[in-house]
Amino acid sequence: MIHFNVPPFTGKEFAYIRQAVENEKICGDGPFTRKCNEWIENKTGTAKCLLTTSCTHATELAALLLAIQPGDEVIMPSYTFVSTANAFVLRGATAVFVDIRPDTMNMDETLIEEAVTKRTKAIAPVHYAGVGCEMDTIMDIAARHHLKVVEDAAQGIMADYKGKPLGTFGEFGCFSFHETKNFSMGEGGALLIRDEKDILNAEIFREKGTDRSQYFRGQVDKYRWQNYGSSYLPSDMNAAYLYAQLELAQEITQARLDRWQEYWEQLTPLAQAGKIELPYIPSYCTHNAHMFYIKTKDMEERSRLIAYLKEKDILSVFHYVPLHSAPAGIKFGRFHGEDRYTTKESERILRLPMFYTLTADQVEYITDQVKAFYDLI
Ligand SMILES: *Cc1c(COP(=O)(O)O)cnc(C)c1O
Repeated sequence: MIHFNVPPFTGKEFAYIRQAVENEKICGDGPFTRKCNEWIENKTGTAKCLLTTSCTHATELAALLLAIQPGDEVIMPSYTFVSTANAFVLRGATAVFVDIRPDTMNMDETLIEEAVTKRTKAIAPVHYAGVGCEMDTIMDIAARHHLKVVEDAAQGIMADYKGKPLGTFGEFGCFSFHETKNFSMGEGGALLIRDEKDILNAEIFREKGTDRSQYFRGQVDKYRWQNYGSSYLPSDMNAAYLYAQLELAQEITQARLDRWQEYWEQLTPLAQAGKIELPYIPSYCTHNAHMFYIKTKDMEERSRLIAYLKEKDILSVFHYVPLHSAPAGIKFGRFHGEDRYTTKESERILRLPMFYTLTADQVEYITDQVKAFYDLI
């Protein structure tokens, strides 16, 4: 059976978890958490990285830091995971969905400005499949309308837009280290903070509303309740697991890119024959091979292909029921403009297996089966 995903494991994780236990420091912000934060800060050039318990929580922290209030509006794609919307909806905001571009599946940057109202507070672009949104345009709109930008870069670590890492454009960027992502700690994430002025508040919100982080640095003589907040620190054992992978980030990313390229080459004839569509990567975007997807003719063909691949022991999946059509999306959001592509494209997308230990032979087997399916049609 070829699974759709196998959580990344490099070999050093057990030794590092053991070290965390032997450090007698298994709560949050221990040595491995610090190493992960510093690694991400060096890699991305962000002012500050704070490891969190999930990307969902990183986005919630961003919403707290922006003081999102009931009645505020946040512009985002409908084609995304629920967390992009939930983080703002939890603070009482309305999610304002705009259509996606069919080529990258990212929010269509040309539709954002017309969705801006007096209530708009922020834009939350999602870098789908680790392919950057049009950040030049988005940052320009944000600047002219005095809006904040929170990047859902859950899938975007080790990827960049015009040479700048995803997650570092907006006030805040959010990474995910869930087991389905390129690097993992089981459940986990990170908040990237662009501006120095936001660091202290972020530390307080993340540490139950206290200045405990400052206390541990010896900057205050006791820690106190400073503001509302919650607990968004992962255990140092989880950070230890992640750190083993960050050390091998280049190697893991390269292995994924190699498989991605093999998929691309093997499936190009089918795309040229007009049977399927392949992902599009703008020339100025460096992606991270977070996923490999194809697009079938329609939902019916996709269901048949999934069943066909399953018979051949290959697990493939699809995702995002557009948020605006889901019960909570109807309650907490609204779609601005026309849904030209969101629903249609979401019904055609099919994700093929992609993980660190996937082999070239497996990719060949999978693509042979996809080709066989279309020969049968
Ligand atoms: C995975 C993912 C999330 C959620 O990440 P968690 O770490 O599981 O909270 C949010 N947004 C997108 C686009 C994702 O792919």
